[in-house]
Amino acid sequence: MARLVMKFGGTSVADIERIRHVANRVKREVDDGHQVAVVVSAMAGTTDNLVNLARQASAMHDAREYDVVVSAGEQISAGLLALALQNLDVPARSWLGWQIPVSTSAVHGSARILDIDGSLLEERLGEGQVAVIAGFQGLAPDNRIATLGRGGSDTSAVALAAAIGADRCDIFTDVEGVFTTDPRIVAQARKLDKITYEEMLEMASQGAKVLQTRSVELAMVHNVRVQVLSSFEDKPGTLVCDEGEIVEQEVVSGIAYSKDEAKITLTRVADRPGVAASIFGSLADANVNVDMIVQNISEDGAATDITFTVGRGDLERTAKILTDVRDGIAYAQLVTDSNVAKVSVIGVGMRSHAGVAQRMFSALAEKGINIQVISTSEIKVSVLIAAEYTELAVRALHTAYGLDAA
Ligand code: ASP
Ligand code: MG
Repeated sequence: MARLVMKFGGTSVADIERIRHVANRVKREVDDGHQVAVVVSAMAGTTDNLVNLARQASAMHDAREYDVVVSAGEQISAGLLALALQNLDVPARSWLGWQIPVSTSAVHGSARILDIDGSLLEERLGEGQVAVIAGFQGLAPDNRIATLGRGGSDTSAVALAAAIGADRCDIFTDVEGVFTTDPRIVAQARKLDKITYEEMLEMASQGAKVLQTRSVELAMVHNVRVQVLSSFEDKPGTLVCDEGEIVEQEVVSGIAYSKDEAKITLTRVADRPGVAASIFGSLADANVNVDMIVQNISEDGAATDITFTVGRGDLERTAKILTDVRDGIAYAQLVTDSNVAKVSVIGVGMRSHAGVAQRMFSALAEKGINIQVISTSEIKVSVLIAAEYTELAVRALHTAYGLDAA
């Protein structure tokens, strides 16, 4: 007997027919003798609608009331799934965040889970009851409903799995698993059987939208084995797990890309201590996330250019902040470019293999793609290129690292 958390995303519970299908899928695990806690998202499109309604009611909305509105979708799907399970003679009960309770931080709209008391749930699971839990929501210290940020029900599921010591957390979604790259771009992309937490984290933060990044962080910290699989097809998906569980590790596991980047260059910035601190300090104070950074040594010892990237949505704000602090930093020009994309090759195997970056640069050179900025970590090499070459670059790299399906 195992204890499982099964999480179903919005498309998996999009209508009553699909909810029935989910109920049957859950019943199978129950019939096999497993204890099952299910976490559901809102029915597809519901949360978007609720967000819009809240915005229409009040543009500058009170985040606590926003949370009351947008958390409602999960209440509906949890109740409906509990009903559908009961209809199959599976004992089931719905649970809202406050009933468990799932305790969160005070930041309404993007709260973090601080603690889940699993004792009530575990009692019911022990009695053979299926718990159907509304994802995305919890209870803030002000005793009011809080939501976890868009896509947050993945995080609900992983946190719950950690809290009740589940053997696995299955995330059912509309894709078959985690692929070596976006199958819409590369037809030969392969589904990975296993991927490490670290790699998944890089893939998720580099634009692969399969799992919310925070859920992967949480899974890594608590060692929760997470399987991503299709709720429409009956086959194994991708297991996100510890490196030790992966016998044959590829050097590179995947290629990710993101078109949500913008590049900023400050020219002729003074080459003296404290300049970078004041540039990036002013951005950090404004909560602007800076990603890649390059600074060259100055030829004359006096001034140099600094180039860095921010999220495209932050570009205007960033430019304004830097214009405001121009006197203090004393740069010559501020040049922005949002026609860029970041392409990354990811793999824990590159820790122990040389020449990974070199292969990337050659493959891009062969296609005549210019590299604007490079950044590396232990398990990732990223380059910034002109946006129109994204697809070409991803395909070339997928082939260059031998990832194409036979
Ligand atoms: N329903 C929420 C959203 O659409 C949470 C989730 O689906 O993960 O963001
Ligand atoms: Mg989701």
